[in-house]
Amino acid sequence: MAIFNLGSVNADLVYRVPHMPAPGETLAATGFQRGLGGKGANMSVAATRAGSHVEHIGAVGEDGLWLKARLTEYGVGVGHLAEIAGPTGQAMILLDAAGENEIVILPGSNREIDRAMITAALAGASSGDIAVFQNETSGQVDFARSAKAAGLRLAHAAAPFEAAAVAAVLPDLDLLVMNEVEAAQLEAALGLAPEALPVADVVITFGARGCRWIATASGRSEDFAAPKVVPVDTTGAGDTFTGYLLAGIDQGHSMSAAIGLAQRAAALMVTRLGTADVIPRRDEVSDV
Ligand code: ATP
Repeated sequence: MAIFNLGSVNADLVYRVPHMPAPGETLAATGFQRGLGGKGANMSVAATRAGSHVEHIGAVGEDGLWLKARLTEYGVGVGHLAEIAGPTGQAMILLDAAGENEIVILPGSNREIDRAMITAALAGASSGDIAVFQNETSGQVDFARSAKAAGLRLAHAAAPFEAAAVAAVLPDLDLLVMNEVEAAQLEAALGLAPEALPVADVVITFGARGCRWIATASGRSEDFAAPKVVPVDTTGAGDTFTGYLLAGIDQGHSMSAAIGLAQRAAALMVTRLGTADVIPRRDEVSDV
């Protein structure tokens, strides 16, 4: 089976600075690194490294061809990653000596994905495939409706969180993944506890404290402890978790087994500095 991911692709531009610049201040960076990022790209790489076939649906500008090349190098299907005019999405990340960060995101090409691109990509899907999307692109509602109509199992990672965006796709979802802050925001906005959401499976992540899976139809909920590790950089932990979770489901594992796999992959991820480039491979993650 395959995973169709409508997702962002960003150039992560990381500047090391001695301190955060004050308004009006010009500051020399002490280091610079650029890498593949964006929640969508991270999830595509994670699910691919977990052994699934992923078709990434998205867009880059002329300045983002290196990102497309890197996704290709990592084995992600890019047949539906359009090349368009205008700037590629980017995240400008300032990292100071104390480890604090400030981030400016330019959505750029990620917000240029239209219905025609989505329809063309999903024409290649079969019922039983998995569709996933986050909230860093355009086209989410079209994608959710089309994927559901085509019989795909539809998953959503509700980040960056926007209550109206989740509400617009909620009736179509089969699986919703949120961290605890997003879950609390959704409950406050909709007045619905996670157990009462009209979504078959809800997974709430709690960072180092692991996660909870709620099977809403049966009202059953199960808590999973996270493996204990010494965190170095938690960036991309959630994306690695979701990518591996979907790959586990795609490969026929039970929800519990897929969550276990996702937690082990995410725990390994937080011991590494970086994003998509350092997401663990399946053979580095201990067995289900
Ligand atoms: P991020 O935005 O940092 O990518 P998130 O806020 O979406 O992450 P978290 O709840 O922080 O999501 O983490 C997702 C999963 O990653 C957790 O359920 C857990 O399995 C794993 N994880 C995160 N932090 C740690 C940690 N310090 N130790 C072990 N596992 C962790």
